[in-house]
Amino acid sequence: MRRYGLIGFPLGHSFSKGFFAEKFAREGIADACYDTFPLAQIGELANLLNQHPDLQGFNVTIPYKEAVIPYLTRLDATAAAVGAVNCVHLTGHERVGYNTDVLGFGQSLRGVQGGRWAQAGQHALILGTGGAAKAVEYVLRQLGHTVQYVSRTPADASVLAYTDLRDLSHIDLIVNTTPLGMSPHTERCPDIPYEQLTARHLVFDLIYNPAQTLLLQRAAASGAATQNGLEMLHLQAEASWAIWNGQQRG
Ligand code: NAP
Repeated sequence: MRRYGLIGFPLGHSFSKGFFAEKFAREGIADACYDTFPLAQIGELANLLNQHPDLQGFNVTIPYKEAVIPYLTRLDATAAAVGAVNCVHLTGHERVGYNTDVLGFGQSLRGVQGGRWAQAGQHALILGTGGAAKAVEYVLRQLGHTVQYVSRTPADASVLAYTDLRDLSHIDLIVNTTPLGMSPHTERCPDIPYEQLTARHLVFDLIYNPAQTLLLQRAAASGAATQNGLEMLHLQAEASWAIWNGQQRG
């Protein structure tokens, strides 16, 4: 049996195990399983690897996409450039980190309204400054967008506070990479001036559970285009599977 899985904390919201169970059943893959491994601390990873010597690869989610890096022997070029890892391939004594959120977010963004918000030179806000935010920033900069982070605790003058968000008329794209609104706390949403959103804007929420977060509901009510994180989840999971099976795509 080839064992794969997901580390993070908490993991109750995650669809990854269900995604792989359906994939294995649909494609007749009988020799693989995918489990969730909630780790209260990243330091528990060494123990997990000792307990499961048959583990061939795992995904990494909130809040360990950056914290996992010291536990790896090598990063591929994209993960090194991003500075965050959501996919690890275990081979022999090697623990190699990849970032398939880049492919997942990029392809999903290109699919919205014929790629309207993937055309170069647009202005983007990224809500949150964690591991997923780094993959989003990497994709947006590659597209030639300008990118500004919004944080609860801005580290320097280049990062905005939520209270700085008064005028969204020059913004094209807002990407939520915070867990605000994720199940079970679906009553929450980021503190942005919703009344300023229009059809010019795309609001992309990386959350997929629930499908329509309060952020997306309020954005849609203001006339903005919306996209949730479900397609991104599926794309990054398929890209992880390809890596674990030696079929990595560029
Ligand atoms: P993370 O590393 O913990 O980062 C989350 C960031 O959000 C934090 O750095 C923080 O930035 C901000 N934040 C945290 N709690 C907050 C709160 N209560 N209010 C406002 N901001 C808060 O997590 P991650 O791995 O980047 O994941 C973030 C989210 O994206 C999760 O919901 C995850 O499920 C989702 N995600 C989805 C996909 C997909 O395939 N659809 C892929 C990756 C991630 P500041 O401290 O700067 O405010």
